[in-house]
Amino acid sequence: MSRLVPSTVAGSLPKPAWLARPEMLWAPWAQTGALLEESKRDAVRLALQVQERADIDIVSDGEQTRQHFVHGFLERLTGIDFAKKRRIGIRADRYEADCPTVVGPIARTAGVHGEEARFLRSATARAVKFTLPGPMTIVDTLADEHYGDRAKLAFAFAEVLNAEARELAAIGIDVVQFDEPAFNVYMDAVADWGLPALERAAQGLGCKTAVHICYGYGIKANLDWKATLGGDWRQYERTFPLLAKSKIDQVSLECANSKVPIELLGLLAGKDVLVGAIDVANDRIETPEEVAATLRRALAHVPKRHLIACTNCGMAPMKREIAYAKLMALGAGAALLRRELA
Ligand code: ZN
Repeated sequence: MSRLVPSTVAGSLPKPAWLARPEMLWAPWAQTGALLEESKRDAVRLALQVQERADIDIVSDGEQTRQHFVHGFLERLTGIDFAKKRRIGIRADRYEADCPTVVGPIARTAGVHGEEARFLRSATARAVKFTLPGPMTIVDTLADEHYGDRAKLAFAFAEVLNAEARELAAIGIDVVQFDEPAFNVYMDAVADWGLPALERAAQGLGCKTAVHICYGYGIKANLDWKATLGGDWRQYERTFPLLAKSKIDQVSLECANSKVPIELLGLLAGKDVLVGAIDVANDRIETPEEVAATLRRALAHVPKRHLIACTNCGMAPMKREIAYAKLMALGAGAALLRRELA
């Protein structure tokens, strides 16, 4: 992480068809039992190889071992009934999902991702990032029959997330990132309990902490929602000053083909800014020059030592060859800007 304008990914990469059904969220696994476990490890090796070939500095496991970025963490906690799924509207009814139900006190009786994190750490010499869902986004992706209060439930998750994140840091993970797409849906609640719960989750970690706040994957429901937001997405105007005051080290957001006014990045003074320079909502491969141009626009508002090149969002629902080509463009675009700044 020592070179100027390092690069990283928001988190997920597409899964190979031999691991899970391609181009969909919550995709069913293509294998079972020991073969599934072996396939997951092979898919992580492949995800790392692709990122290394693209010269990405801070790599992830591409979330190859999880079916979904929220439910993958919840599966091993107690207090949640996965057999009791309810179809609910999530992200303020932007789309519906079959969500498990909170039926008792949330507890983490054993580590969740430790084994996967150890494998990731051992499989690459590069700096590694591990992603966890943020408390507010977890609360927004569940049915609740026990707590009856979203803030209380968020703090229950913040406790278990903190224990998990501490274990990840101790394993040697360099960046723990919390994904909070719910942060620009419930603007008042972010200030009231969303950010305090996130800070609790990230408290006292021996590694860098990041938050990914975003307008969602490139799926139709999100594209339709973005079309209603007008020509100027100012949601972050309220969130960024709060994040700037927080103890979170890094903020990840979408800037490629995004209507977020770029000057809003100036509200994140003191933070590393992961500038999304790869659009995950279309199949057109960016050129390295386009990637560099997006990063350069951000440089007017973010000091160069705080700039990190990134993808807009997770790439899970994309076609593999498209996602891989976009990663190559990301690495090449960051290199282009680095040469310019040298
Ligand atoms: Zn995202």
